[in-house]
Amino acid sequence: MPRFTALQSATGFDPLRNFLVVGEGRSSFLLLHDARVENLKFDATKLDVRAVTRTDYSRYAHVLQDQFMAWGLVAEESARGFAGAMHAAATYGGLAHLLSVRGKVRSQSRIRATRRGVTAELHVAVVPQKMVTVAFRFVQHRDASGAMITLSRWTPYDRRRLSNMLNWVYGPQLNVTFDVVDADWARVDQHLGHPIDDEAFLRHIVGKKHPSADLTVFFLGNGWKSQKSEVAGTMFYEEGAAVVVDDSQIPVTDGADRFAVTLAHEVAHYLRDAQSGFRGHHDRPGVLLSGGTESTVLDKQLVYDMNPPPA
Ligand SMILES: [Zn+2]
Repeated sequence: MPRFTALQSATGFDPLRNFLVVGEGRSSFLLLHDARVENLKFDATKLDVRAVTRTDYSRYAHVLQDQFMAWGLVAEESARGFAGAMHAAATYGGLAHLLSVRGKVRSQSRIRATRRGVTAELHVAVVPQKMVTVAFRFVQHRDASGAMITLSRWTPYDRRRLSNMLNWVYGPQLNVTFDVVDADWARVDQHLGHPIDDEAFLRHIVGKKHPSADLTVFFLGNGWKSQKSEVAGTMFYEEGAAVVVDDSQIPVTDGADRFAVTLAHEVAHYLRDAQSGFRGHHDRPGVLLSGGTESTVLDKQLVYDMNPPPA
């Protein structure tokens, strides 16, 4: 029976909905089982679909490398894993074909694979490139004895690690790149209390946001208590600012990095509101921004909420 599967999780293929996201002018990679590539049916004005073989693997490896650069991914571990999985699939292959799907123009279409009267259908969305400017602020204040203390274990020196975290989630899965315009301490010359609440944040901290970044993320360690009862932090929509805590209680799927989910979650609130005006959570388990268990995986609906293809 023909079927499509992911090369690696969180790279733009949603297996439950047989959905693939592709950046405009970019390529996505996945596996095709039990069907011939020559017999695939697709709209060649919208997509270019090819088998990647051992002999032309290096051509596609360069395509992937260029995309990683465009997505701001520098020496990112999961990105290297993705390249490795692609190399293994092209070289050893087995029974599955490695497919390259390039998006020519923003569009929605389908790829059909048929064998012995059975058809598998892959829904493909080709979405535009989006850039979001983000600033990081690491909050310091005076403790009860008057000493200046740092609240988060993250610092301005983690700039690249944090931007890689965001770009790995949102590059391959959404064609959105985060450009970190600034990463610096935010020093408040007084004691803000413990835990810090919405009032203290709005009065003393949010004014230290970057003047022009689309979004400023404030790292507040673990001393945060919002009335909005969010476990990961809080998105302040009107202020264009998000609070992210170090050790959230957000329920995550097995193997997911809880902090990466936490950071991606607050940023997802920003992206979804900016595109669709949706606030709050959804109820699809295992998917980012779920009210239940989450991971950094985006599904078809989230892609449509955050960076939709044309109707
Ligand atoms: Zn939330």
